[in-house]
Amino acid sequence: MGVGTDVHPFSSEPRPLWVAGLEWPGEGHGLAGHSDGDVAAHAACDALLSACALGDLGAVFGTADPRWSGASGVALLREVARLADEAGFTIGNVSIQVVGNRPKIGRRRAEAEKTLTEALAGAPVTLSATTTDGLGLTGRGEGLAAIATALVVPAS
Ligand code: MG
Repeated sequence: MGVGTDVHPFSSEPRPLWVAGLEWPGEGHGLAGHSDGDVAAHAACDALLSACALGDLGAVFGTADPRWSGASGVALLREVARLADEAGFTIGNVSIQVVGNRPKIGRRRAEAEKTLTEALAGAPVTLSATTTDGLGLTGRGEGLAAIATALVVPAS
């Protein structure tokens, strides 16, 4: 099993909002970051890398590596799935919880789960969301956080 966490601030500039592999038009400014800022995908990547003892996002995709500059969360997940397979692991499932005020995940949950599941070559991804009752950086709407757990099984 592995756990992953990610946080990105909302950009002060207009920018597309990408969360859980989907663009969320009309939900305000996007997340700032080296990539698309998709906290859900990034947390899932870190959970998978940890479960496979492959390090973490920073080690695998270092921000100095131009190949991954601006990469989508889904592209990173696809690469992590490939690395997990290469390391001899089958992905059991991944659970992601998004923490923040927006976007409202519920109305597009099925679409997001399908997109993330496809990025992991069919390994089931489930997505939930919560708020922090106005507290902290997510409660003040300054940014968005995500926590993920991943289960992997050594391929025999
Ligand atoms: Mg990130």
